[in-house]
Amino acid sequence: MATPALMPVYPRCDVRPVRGEGVYLIGERGERYLDFAAGIAVNALGHGHPKLVQAIADQAATLMHVSNLYGSPQGEHFAQRLVDCSFADTVFFTNSGTEAIECAIKTARRFFYVKGEPQRHKLITFNNAFHGRTMGAISATNQPKMRDGFEPLLPGFAYAPFNDLEAALALIDDNTAGFLVETVQGEGGVSAATPEFLQGLRRACDEHGLLLILDEVQCGYGRTGKMWGYEHYGITPDIMTVAKGIGGGFPLGACLATEQAASGMVFGTHGSTYGGNPLAMAAGEAVLDVMQEPGFLDRVTAMGERLRAGLEQLIPNHDHLFVGVRGKGLMLGLKLSDAAEARSFVAHARDHHGLLTVSAGENVVRVLPPLVIEESHIAECLEKLSAAARSYAMPSDD
Ligand SMILES: *Cc1c(COP(=O)(O)O)cnc(C)c1O
Repeated sequence: MATPALMPVYPRCDVRPVRGEGVYLIGERGERYLDFAAGIAVNALGHGHPKLVQAIADQAATLMHVSNLYGSPQGEHFAQRLVDCSFADTVFFTNSGTEAIECAIKTARRFFYVKGEPQRHKLITFNNAFHGRTMGAISATNQPKMRDGFEPLLPGFAYAPFNDLEAALALIDDNTAGFLVETVQGEGGVSAATPEFLQGLRRACDEHGLLLILDEVQCGYGRTGKMWGYEHYGITPDIMTVAKGIGGGFPLGACLATEQAASGMVFGTHGSTYGGNPLAMAAGEAVLDVMQEPGFLDRVTAMGERLRAGLEQLIPNHDHLFVGVRGKGLMLGLKLSDAAEARSFVAHARDHHGLLTVSAGENVVRVLPPLVIEESHIAECLEKLSAAARSYAMPSDD
């Protein structure tokens, strides 16, 4: 068979969306899906949110793109708002999560380079981590499915089990620059860092002069019911990556840093042609406007609690299939029994019950609805999951 025009790197399913309406996606044949995948935690405001649509349309007609050679009133304004609501002093805008990771790695290396300690370039990262698909980002994970065939990768990474503080501390040596860790692992299986782990990494950074880099591409930006995942832990990072929800569907990412951590990132050290262009900034401002409306994040927390309670109530009725619920806010994972397969259950719920979810590592079904869901959507999701659980044939049954 001839290679398709679209490089076949994704195992694409038969859902072929052509329109979105709030929490629903509509396929080519007019069929409707309840979208509890949200473009993998991207469509924070759902589909077609009027404020986001209007902001993009207005900005597209005014000024879409200019080079970063020119001054950026749009970028300065949005960056200042991110600084005002986070630990950070400064922001670099990207078009994706993996580019934000690249910027974070470069920022950490430059920090030690300008301090006269260029040998301190090694980042300690964690099993099951996912940081994106560029060469730097795949070097920062030890998952073979992302690395195989792409060697030689970027040197300077070491890997410890996630949530194992002792193992992480044991890897610190004279070459260590810091830690790169997801506050809540997404692809890896919706596993939140434990407070002891994250607070222990912070303490180690303070003691040894290392940098704590948090990857909040998936768990940041309101997803867990707080603006930033680290707010659940009473710590702050030195550098943080953000993307997915920040643009609400417009390609946008950011690398945030303290003034000190960014001290090496001077004129000429980094850049991006598109990064932070006026259209992206308008999308970002519109999403942030909605998230900063009074009560928005409290509502995410309340909806997250309802959804979690509903998922937990499904377990006793389907305990051959569902074994536990994990995650925070509206970043939830339904752990399946060993006899089941998250991937095939996600396909079954999608094809036979019109419910979109995403599979993740550790046999987990990720439930990542838009942050603007209402109780009726939660009820519909639970009904569909329950029906899907009743009609799902365990892979071992055939
Ligand atoms: C999705 C993701 C990335 C990569 O983002 P892209 O926009 O796909 O490059 C990085 N880190 C985490 C935690 C992610 O979930």
